Amino acid sequence: MPPASDERPQWPDGAKCIAAITVDWDGHSLEVGRDLEPVGIRAAGGYSARRGVHRMLDIFGRHEIAATFFVPGYDAEQHANGVRELIAAGHEVGAHGYTHESGVLGREEEQELLERSHAILSDVTGTPPVGWRSPSGRKTHWTTSVLRRLGYIYESSDKDYERPYPTVVEGEPSTEMIEFPNNTLGPGLDDAPLWTAGVAPYEVLDLWKAEFDAIYADEGYFVLTFHPRAGFGTGTPARAHVVDELLTHIRAHDGVHFTRFDELARWCLEADHGFLDPPARIGGRP
Ligand SMILES: [Zn+2]
Repeated sequence: MPPASDERPQWPDGAKCIAAITVDWDGHSLEVGRDLEPVGIRAAGGYSARRGVHRMLDIFGRHEIAATFFVPGYDAEQHANGVRELIAAGHEVGAHGYTHESGVLGREEEQELLERSHAILSDVTGTPPVGWRSPSGRKTHWTTSVLRRLGYIYESSDKDYERPYPTVVEGEPSTEMIEFPNNTLGPGLDDAPLWTAGVAPYEVLDLWKAEFDAIYADEGYFVLTFHPRAGFGTGTPARAHVVDELLTHIRAHDGVHFTRFDELARWCLEADHGFLDPPARIGGRP
């Protein structure tokens, strides 16, 4: 019997808490999408492919965890071999816009970009992506109907709850697509605090540990977002070091299940796990 919404959720393997580590590649696509030349001070996105992604791969490999990387289509075109390395290392590749679009898009333009990025990632990785995260948090009421038609089973853009719930598709909660809230506005569940000059990495490590400890004791849905860029991001040595430290902290807790989003989505879409019942506290409607 599904749990009532006020009970703790059930997690895979009977875990007390899931930990989904997510990385938004955000390379030169971000500048190119804003009609900026990615050179000089605007070149920091190039750090992802050159160093940041590999540093993340090394850290995740040491901790033996599989993560979800969201990759813009433009970056996948530029660095196809780098994206294939993610797959070879056991990680998931999800979609994240074409040039990390941040402005308002018309319906047809948005559809074309979703389809284009989907085709690029399918071609590069050999497997169609099943998950999407909005670049810059931009999403419309028709985004999910395009994604569902393309076969996506989850999306991770909304910031309005602390456990997975049915994605709203065509105005109705879907039984085929799950929403993974991505509570980066806080901003304790993102590397955003490090983007401000003068914030020491160990301060952010304390913030992340506090977030993890509280979530571990509460509903057990821990999702963290990193960016492997220089400039804003966590790819550089001192910042990546605290990612390593955080994973050591999480590993020291009993009953934590590290998961890729595609695997968690398939689990959440099984009816008897209780996530397809729109939670009473949010009503299940947009
Ligand atoms: Zn991004």
